Amino acid sequence: LVVLDHVDKWFGELHVLQDINLTVRRGEVVVVIGPSGSGKSTLCRAINRLETVDSGTITLDGQPLPQEGKALAELRSDVGMVFQSFNLFAHKTVLENVTLGPIKVRKTGRQDAEQRAMELLRRVGVDSQAGKYPAQLSGGQQQRVAIARALAMDPKVMLFDEPTSALDPEMIKEVLDVMVDLAQRGMTMIVVTHEMGFARTAADRVLFMSDGVVVEENTPDEFFSNPRTDRARDFLGKIL
Ligand code: ATP
Ligand code: MG
Repeated sequence: LVVLDHVDKWFGELHVLQDINLTVRRGEVVVVIGPSGSGKSTLCRAINRLETVDSGTITLDGQPLPQEGKALAELRSDVGMVFQSFNLFAHKTVLENVTLGPIKVRKTGRQDAEQRAMELLRRVGVDSQAGKYPAQLSGGQQQRVAIARALAMDPKVMLFDEPTSALDPEMIKEVLDVMVDLAQRGMTMIVVTHEMGFARTAADRVLFMSDGVVVEENTPDEFFSNPRTDRARDFLGKIL
């Protein structure tokens, strides 16, 4: 569904993505881990074209990523993205946050959009907050709204960039539970996270990145119990 073929990206002198080759099949959950600055966020941002790449190709569902205009807006709605900071629209209610994309981009009628939004908010456990503004919600609730907002566009793939790392410990689980549920429903997901519990429960594959290179690609069981490279072993020693 998502294919990266010999992708390279430079920031000036810095080679942030080095010959990345990755195929994510429909329904697959890929967890990306690695030290700070290894290029994980850049990889996510390249897939929904918040960043351009310097060489190689990225395709979604067999189509190369569009360069601009309407096609790019459509791509963005096919690739749901959830960031570390929740990025909700502060001056819109929870319900409006979730219905805005479908109404504006997908041209869904307001009533249908609201009905669907309420279903999604119920699924992530925040339907009782629908009329509130983001600032009135806890971090965990905001992040679950952000997930519902992305899902409202019926994305083909969901990208998560450290979705729980800004959360207090007691809120991490409620967000991870939603993500595990999503994985079990067959969503294609690329998840940057250091939450090993999530990786073990939900991931089909773990990619370990270091300095812009995918150093290791393995099943979660193998990766955590028996990393093949020194760099991965070293990193796991620090975070586990
Ligand atoms: P973290 O775990 O801290 O989020 P990361 O693996 O997500 O790290 P990236 O954010 O992808 O890493 O950054 C990779 C490298 O590229 C870093 O050295 C970073 O400083 C650099 N970088 C990221 N964005 C830019 C930019 N817009 N301009 C210049 N350099 C950048
Ligand atoms: Mg990052």
